[in-house]
Amino acid sequence: MNKKFPLFPLSGALYDSNSLARTRKDFLDELYSAKSCSLLLASADGFVCFREIIPSRREGNLEFLLSGQGAYLGKSPQGEHFLASFVTGFEGTQEAFDLRQVTHEVEPAQVAAACAAVALASWNFRTRYCERCANPLLPLCLGWEKECTSCKALYYPRTDPAVIMTVFDEQGRLLLANNTRWERTRFSLLAGYVDAGESPETTVLREVFEEVGLRGEGIPRILGTSPWPFPRSLMLVYRLDLGLSARQVDAQLRVDGKEIREAAFFTRKELEQDIARGRVTLPARSSVAYALITRWLRGEEIA
Ligand SMILES: [Zn+2]
Repeated sequence: MNKKFPLFPLSGALYDSNSLARTRKDFLDELYSAKSCSLLLASADGFVCFREIIPSRREGNLEFLLSGQGAYLGKSPQGEHFLASFVTGFEGTQEAFDLRQVTHEVEPAQVAAACAAVALASWNFRTRYCERCANPLLPLCLGWEKECTSCKALYYPRTDPAVIMTVFDEQGRLLLANNTRWERTRFSLLAGYVDAGESPETTVLREVFEEVGLRGEGIPRILGTSPWPFPRSLMLVYRLDLGLSARQVDAQLRVDGKEIREAAFFTRKELEQDIARGRVTLPARSSVAYALITRWLRGEEIA
């Protein structure tokens, strides 16, 4: 694994968002004097495409940063500026790639910039009118802020915290579930959004009980975090050892039928066999769930 990544494909750590520059009045001049910039075309549905752009004040080709059609994302470790231009789709564009399927081979700073680009594309498309007075919003801070043209209320891109958890029984079997919104073969870890005022540890225990009926004796332990900008989640990754035997699990396991269609505990061997037979398919390659499930299958400790 690429050591630059702490744990997960979207957790790029070497990214400088250069956030103080967003509010500097002369910063656009600095960008126009750059020899070149890396431009990410980004769609709200998670596709991105990298281009080089030569800034030209005469052509005004960085003005999209002021109009809500793009954003300044930050700098690569080599000092190259990343810019985002929001697009509605990539039909027929071969070079665009799906951020959900990105792997460790992509440069971490590029991945981090792409996460910001996709999140901001989604926010900018969705956030156009004031929640308080319904008047149009004015883009500010190079794509990172909006202000109501009437009541001056300020809006920022928000992130929703969500938990995702590896749940083990006493035999070390891993719990996987099929969500009713997915194809029937796709199995993944349980996950859910943090409720208002709730601690994420409580979310883990609540979701496990709501979705599969299990109440164990374990306390969730955090393993790491990862952005998931589809459209705006931050995944808080936990491990929960239920402290329940296979017999106790069998007695308690019941899916809610609304969100979860099917759930089961797997040994490594059982999961390998089900994948080989096509009975189980895994989630998107850049997801936390994919990283954890495949690490576990390789025999690595999930800690
Ligand atoms: Zn307003």
